[in-house]
Amino acid sequence: MEIMLEHFVQLALSAFVPLVLVATFIFIIRTNRKQMAAMQAQSFAAYKQAHPGRVSHDGHVRCKECGGGNIGIERVMNRTFMRRHFCRTDGTTLYYSKEQT
Ligand SMILES: [Zn+2]
Repeated sequence: MEIMLEHFVQLALSAFVPLVLVATFIFIIRTNRKQMAAMQAQSFAAYKQAHPGRVSHDGHVRCKECGGGNIGIERVMNRTFMRRHFCRTDGTTLYYSKEQT
């Protein structure tokens, strides 16, 4: 009886583990795609269009929240190859751009 139960558990695990792995993999890819789409929508062009007063004619950017001009750039991880442009004063994300290679 005990041996049968052990066999059953092994069988269930051998079917379940790959399933969980595949599901996790699909979930990560879908999340990543959604993130990419969201970041691509939040482009410099979109920022300029939404907050025309915050981008000067020579391209100098100011924060949409506080108007600060101290803008930082950081890489977004997760193999998205995107950069986040943010306000150093309050941390607001202003827009994303593609990482230059
Ligand atoms: Zn700010």
